[in-house]
Order: sequence, then C-alpha cells, then structure tokens
Amino acid sequence: MTPVLSSLLDDVLRRNAGEPEFHQAAREVLGSLGPVIEANPHYARAAVLERITEPERQLIFRVPWTDDEGTIRVNRGFRVEFNSALGPYKGGLRFHPSVTLGTVKFLGFEQIFKNALTGLPIGGGKGGSDFDPKGRSDAEVMRFCQSFMTELYRHLGEYTDVPAGDIGVGAREIGYLFGQYKRITNRYESGVLTGKGVGWGGSLVRTEATGFGAVVFAQRMLATRGRSFDGARVLVSGSGNVALYAIQKVHQLGGTVVACSDSSGVVYDRDGIDFELLRQLKEVERARLSEYAARRPSAEYRANGDIWALAAETPIDVAIPCATQNELDATAAATLAGNGVAAVVEGANMPCTPEAVQVLRAADVLFAPGKAANAGGVATSALEMQQNASRDAWTFEYAEQRLDDIMTGIHDRCAETAERYGAPGDYVLGANVAGFVRVADAMLALGVI
Ligand code: NDP
Repeated sequence: MTPVLSSLLDDVLRRNAGEPEFHQAAREVLGSLGPVIEANPHYARAAVLERITEPERQLIFRVPWTDDEGTIRVNRGFRVEFNSALGPYKGGLRFHPSVTLGTVKFLGFEQIFKNALTGLPIGGGKGGSDFDPKGRSDAEVMRFCQSFMTELYRHLGEYTDVPAGDIGVGAREIGYLFGQYKRITNRYESGVLTGKGVGWGGSLVRTEATGFGAVVFAQRMLATRGRSFDGARVLVSGSGNVALYAIQKVHQLGGTVVACSDSSGVVYDRDGIDFELLRQLKEVERARLSEYAARRPSAEYRANGDIWALAAETPIDVAIPCATQNELDATAAATLAGNGVAAVVEGANMPCTPEAVQVLRAADVLFAPGKAANAGGVATSALEMQQNASRDAWTFEYAEQRLDDIMTGIHDRCAETAERYGAPGDYVLGANVAGFVRVADAMLALGVI
C-alpha cells in the first residue's frame, strides 16, 4: 500500500475503533486502489477516499417488542446509509445476534462498490439488528418487524433508501416490514423494499438471484481457463437463500454439489444434494439441516463439521462459500488449493479471510470476491424497482436473461480492469477499481458531497 493510502487507512481505523470487520473491508479495498490513485491524482486532490470511507449517515435505534409470554424485549436496530452518489441507498437488512454497527458498516461499504459494478443506478447502504429470529414464532417476528419499521420508515423511500433481505431476513420478514411501512405512510410504495412476494410487487428470479448470479459469474471465470460446471463436484457452505439457489444452478449446469452446511454442522451427500428436499426443509418447514440426513439415506450429517475439510476426502473442483463472513480461513484455503480445487467463488459477503485469499492466489486458484460474484441479488432488486416503477411484471425467462447479462457484464468489467492495471486474472483488483471509479466519478460530478 502506498504511504498516502496507508495513512488514510490508519485514519479510518482510528475513527472506527472496535470495528474489525469494517477495518478488514476498508483494508482490502484501499489495498487495491494504489494504481488508480496514482494514475488519477484528481481523486486525491478532491479527497474522494476520505469521503467514500465515511458513511453519509449512520442510524442506531431502540427496537422494543413483546414476546409471546408478554415479556418486553429490547433490541438494537441499525441502518448505515453509506453513499448515494449513484442512486438511493440500496442494501439488505440482517437479523442475527452477532450484528453490530461495525458489521453493518462493513456490509454497507462493500455494497457501494458492488452496486456500482452492476452498472445500475443504486447507491450503497445496509442495516439490521441483533434480533435473533431463530426459534421465534411468526407472531413474535411480526411484532419485532413492526417495531423495527416504526422507527426506520422515516428514513426510507423509493428515492431515498430501499432495504432488502440478508441473513435472517427473507420473504416473511419483508412482508411484515412492508405491511408496517404501508400502514404508517398510507402509501402503497412498492419500490421502498425489495425481495417482496411475487404476488404483491416482487420480481420473479429475485429469490434465486444471488445464488444463480454467483454460479453464472463462476461459469464465466472457469471458461477463461477452458473449464465448466459440467461434471464438476462442488462444495457450497450455508443452506440459506444464497446457498440453496447456488446449488440449484450448479445442478442445472451439469455439476454436482456434494455438501452444504449450517451453523451447527455439515451434510455430505454422496449422491449429490437433493435440491427439492433441501428447499422444502429450509424454506417451508424451517427445519435444521440435520433433518436432511435423517430423510436421505445417501447423506451423512457431521455435527460441528468443517465443510472445506471434505476436499481432502473426495475430489472437489469448485468451492462456493455462501454462509457468512470469515468462514473460510487460511487452513481451509490450503486444503482446497492442495487438493486441486480450481476456483473459490464468494456467494456470501467476505467469507474468505485475507490470509485465505493470499493462499488461494499463491496457488493460482481462481478467486471471485463477493462484491462481484454475489451482486446478482442487488441487481435483481434494482430490476424489481424498475418493474414497480413501470407497474409491470416480467416473466421468469426475461428476468433471468437480464440477470445473466448483468453478471456477464460484471465479470467482463472486472477481468478487463484487472488486465488494464497489469494484473490479469486478479478479480479482487478488478472489482475494487471498476466499482470505485464509477462511484468516484459520480461524486466528483456532484460537487463536494
Ligand atoms: P440466510 O439467513 O438465508 O442463510 C444464512 C446461512 O448461513 C444459513 O445456513 C446459516 O445457518 C448460515 N450461517 C449464518 N451465520 C453463520 C455463522 N456465524 N456460522 C456458520 N453459518 C452461518 O442468509 P443469506 O443466504 O441471504 O445470506 C448468506 C450470505 O450471503 C451473507 O453473507 C449475506 O450477506 C450474503 N448475501 C446475501 C444476499 C441475498 O440476496 N440474500 C445478497 C448478497 C449477499 P444457520 O441457519 O444455522 O444460522
């Protein structure tokens, strides 16, 4: 890192003390920007980096709600509105007990560049709460969502800030949140939230988009080395929204996903994961993953197992981490690289530690960073907003074609940018630089904002 960037990073770390995930994300992005700052001194003169690392607005609020026993509970809500140079703040809400301001800030920062890479008119933001929906009844989740929106609604709007789902926030939560927004504002403002049900303003393909998009990105990346998913054996961590539809798309392209996971353990299925069974368990029954092995003779469940260690037991071609940040460390990366894995594709946000990324690069394993590979979700959210604005509803085929085109565009933009800056095949540099330049140029055009 150049001395200028390094001193800026020191400043970011100091101003955001105790937020290690945000530090990690800032270090990664700034670490890629040396060549572009050197070639374009006007960015430094206009203090673009100082501005882009500081959120435009950070909201923290109390969320009181009553559980089924009548006990009053209090959680903390967050929304970080990071950058609106390209469009309204756009990014999901995460409900998980681990959520802090630092988590939301890291996710919001990544979102700026991800959204810019899509080429669509959306700024970057993220939000959430330390509320844990696991084990809560529908009525409790509804009361929590209503209380959360009772504060957040005043900061939202289809031209201001448009949240969506993330970990712990799916169609059920988006429904409760939208219902409360509609009630408070007395407006059927469909474009204020995305990830809505298809029957009431949602877009076909939004549910599948992040997982599908990550696999399409991987397909393009593999093609640069003459490979494909046909016949490939794949590991997908997690078993939530992103993981599920990554699994489905790998199977559609002729590959086999042999394992997936949740925070309690790993399922290894010799015959390949049965997508329909997994979808039924996770989306309909809201069951734990251990239940999958109980219903499928070819599968075994390993409590507290390490999904990446499977690469030492059975041949694996591609790994797609789709659970959470820092879930794939240097040891796991060494296992993958040492056993012939060709590509690691981040379906989740920042699932690979910086040390893991170094190991993969040193071993010449193709690596796709989340801000490029998982952008299909937010891109399709923007397509949902387009349909809401025009009072239209597209077919599945048309929406999926748009998603494919966007993912191919992101892949090519990253690859070309890496090439232009003398680092062919470096998708991290490509994604960071291409995303940064689009936002930075818009910020300069809008004056000192
Ligand atoms: P879900 O809540 O649907 O699923 C999350 C999955 O990851 C679950 O299987 C969960 O297991 C597992 N998981 C969560 N936290 C941990 C943890 N600390 N350790 C191990 N496993 C964990 O979330 P999504 O699928 O929507 O999101 C997954 C990732 O993808 C996140 O990084 C998110 O930011 C990112 N992403 C999501 C997008 C979307 O459209 N949904 C868009 C772009 C990125 P368990 O049930 O046991 O908690």
